[in-house]
Amino acid sequence: MTTTRTPRPSMRAAINAKCKDCIHDPKAGLGAWREQVEQCPCTGCPLYPLRPLSRKEGRKSGQEGTFPAPASLAATDGTPSP
Ligand code: SF4
Repeated sequence: MTTTRTPRPSMRAAINAKCKDCIHDPKAGLGAWREQVEQCPCTGCPLYPLRPLSRKEGRKSGQEGTFPAPASLAATDGTPSP
């Protein structure tokens, strides 16, 4: 018997999917999903600094559609906290 493993999505793909699921309304007429995520007003959300941006906005900010991880996340070395 062989087992197949479902490949894990990348962190970027998971964040993109979460934000899209959270805010995107294709019938709202407010633009593509990245444009709607870009307009997210929830600055207190832990994913806010990492939310995907539209290509146009990402180029403007020089961030290529992403922001660097907040210090609280970037400071970890991957080991679970006590
Ligand atoms: S950043 Fe905005 S769109 Fe993304 S998960 Fe948080 S509240 Fe939802």
